[in-house]
Amino acid sequence: MSDQKQTKLDELKAKILKDKVTPELAKTATQLVFGDGNIDTDIVFIGEAPGKNEDLQGIPFVGAAGKFLNEMLGLINLKREDIYITNIVKYRPPDNRDPLPEEKAAFLPYLQQQLAIIKPKLIITLGRHSMECFLPGLKISQCHGQPKRKDGQVYLPLFHPAAALYNGGMRQTVIDDFMTIPALLEILNETK
Ligand code: URA
Repeated sequence: MSDQKQTKLDELKAKILKDKVTPELAKTATQLVFGDGNIDTDIVFIGEAPGKNEDLQGIPFVGAAGKFLNEMLGLINLKREDIYITNIVKYRPPDNRDPLPEEKAAFLPYLQQQLAIIKPKLIITLGRHSMECFLPGLKISQCHGQPKRKDGQVYLPLFHPAAALYNGGMRQTVIDDFMTIPALLEILNETK
């Protein structure tokens, strides 16, 4: 199973390169940051786009936001090896600017294929950009930490971990929302 999944993911990564998705971003980025972690997981986290460290290492969430994410995973007894993590936009935008709507739109079909291969029970969106791809029209300030079911898939929209780094006042909210993950997973495991 996992071998087949890995082959499909490798083919998808090759297809992104072959299709020349967002060629302008590809030009300024060091490399494509496809995704990392356990492909047989129940949980996939989706961020925005790679930053400087991610661009250099080719792995999502290895910088400051990633360190905080790892700490929060530890609080719920999970490790990076237990989950899969990726971004909507898979090349670093120059100067860490926000991804443009057309860049998100260009990568979305590939992200959807990536998720269809992994088939997680729970998709956790990190930040507004990621949430809007799956749950358009919602406001992160109003729906963070509240699971949503859409077309048979369960989503948990969370604030981006970087939000807590820029705004210390948000740290506890970000952690409290994160701490709801185990109970949600338990419900999802019972209903399957
Ligand atoms: N922020 C993101 O959204 N993704 C990363 O990979 C790193 C930081």
